[in-house]
Amino acid sequence: MSALIMAGAPCVEALEEKQKMRVAALKEAGKEVCLAVVRVGDDPASIVYVRNKKKACERIGIVSREVLLGAEISQEALEAELDQLAADEKVDGILLQLPLPKGLDEKKALAHIPAEKDADGFADENAGTLINGTKGTLPCTPRGIMALLSFYGVDPKGKHAVVVGRSAIVGKPAALMLLNADATVTICHSKTKDLAKWTREADILVAAVGRPGFITGDMVKPGAVVVDVGINRTPDGLRGDVDFEAVSEIASAITPVPGGVGKMTVCMLMQNVIDLKEQKAAAAVE
Ligand code: NAP
Repeated sequence: MSALIMAGAPCVEALEEKQKMRVAALKEAGKEVCLAVVRVGDDPASIVYVRNKKKACERIGIVSREVLLGAEISQEALEAELDQLAADEKVDGILLQLPLPKGLDEKKALAHIPAEKDADGFADENAGTLINGTKGTLPCTPRGIMALLSFYGVDPKGKHAVVVGRSAIVGKPAALMLLNADATVTICHSKTKDLAKWTREADILVAAVGRPGFITGDMVKPGAVVVDVGINRTPDGLRGDVDFEAVSEIASAITPVPGGVGKMTVCMLMQNVIDLKEQKAAAAVE
């Protein structure tokens, strides 16, 4: 069997058309959408990620404000910068590019981004709304996974979804979103015994591990839908968490790396900022 390749680009293209229209409608009403992206230090991967976010803003018509801070900045000064953006009426969403340089506390810094400007969906308040299944801002990567599944006609309802990885930014929220979409969900992690027993049960397998080629062909049920979240820099270039060659022969559908979930993450960031602006505009009318 040769799997359907669930590329991110066509899905992003379709979603961006709608995003452009929403941003244009806001602009017509005199409301410019603005995303502030804060980068601390010169991590090469962060530079690329921030550049991609800026490009997406430009395509859609969102004003992107880049705040570049030196790696030697103190925790207090970083928090003061975030407080300033939080108080700035013109800024609709704030993103703090992670990881932060050594010595800076990410959790403490993120706490200075209020839920109503939390473009990344990392705020505790937004984690709460995800658990409650109520309206809130969803983390971009798992939101992107759900959008990609929907675009390729994969309905999680009644399916067994197995998520490998339980990070707060990918694994856990992805599992909750799949649960909220009526999948039966199993979450696996580094302490899971006999991992392959679980992954072979998956109708939808999400790999968010951070190890190149970790999910091998013998770990996948024939016909499964496989979502590879991994972005691993190797001497052979970027590789996912899934052994693509082997698994694409077994799965019914699979996301490529690069060009799969990664593309969706930036697109969902744009979606989150537009959502936040529309909510702000609606609240101003009430
Ligand atoms: P993370 O915080 O390091 O979490 C990795 C998870 O994998 C942990 O829950 C860990 O379990 C689990 N794990 C590690 N070794 C394992 C093993 N041998 N068996 C089973 N589970 C194991 O990473 P993350 O931030 O979630 O990111 C995961 C991957 O996705 C990375 O490659 C990252 O670069 C990529 N990523 C991609 C995007 C995108 O836009 N496509 C966005 C974010 C992240 P424990 O909890 O027990 O330690």
